[in-house]
Amino acid sequence: MAEVAYWWRGRLHSEREAPPLAVPLRLVKVEAVEWLCPKCGAKAEWGPEPRCPLCGARCEPRTRVEEVPELVDAVEALERAFNRVCRARFRGAAALEPLGIFVPLFAWRPLDLELPDGSRLVGAYAGKPRFLKRGFHNGSTFELPGNLAAIVWSGLLECLAFEVEKPRELVELLSASAGFI
Ligand SMILES: [Zn+2]
Repeated sequence: MAEVAYWWRGRLHSEREAPPLAVPLRLVKVEAVEWLCPKCGAKAEWGPEPRCPLCGARCEPRTRVEEVPELVDAVEALERAFNRVCRARFRGAAALEPLGIFVPLFAWRPLDLELPDGSRLVGAYAGKPRFLKRGFHNGSTFELPGNLAAIVWSGLLECLAFEVEKPRELVELLSASAGFI
């Protein structure tokens, strides 16, 4: 079983020091080749025929195994993070009715959280699933089963819906992590 690292704000953390919403990442082993000078041990830059930057000798390749974080997409990263803190389940992409009369019933929180794939969360809603509309072309109503989901914006209208028992608590947690409370 590979060790699990946690990602938060562009840095890897151990389990002990990871903030609550840090995303668990698997570390995967890759083979890396580096070119070393046989005389002075200096590392050469990549090139067709790497030369030592210090003495100019021809460098030799050395293969070693390196552990690097497994890259995940935004949905998978969020699912792992939310599942870790509140057993949230991802339900799909959705869109809120932009000017619907129900929109004020949602609590909006601005966020600025970076995900491992480089995308950003800009805010989150908590509200009732029956006010969601499907984010696809036919515009039909999108009923989310179970207790309400927290809605995490990944763009202007597109958002990701998560089923959680206490959506407002999740939004509060997100807000605290983003430093916007
Ligand atoms: Zn050298």
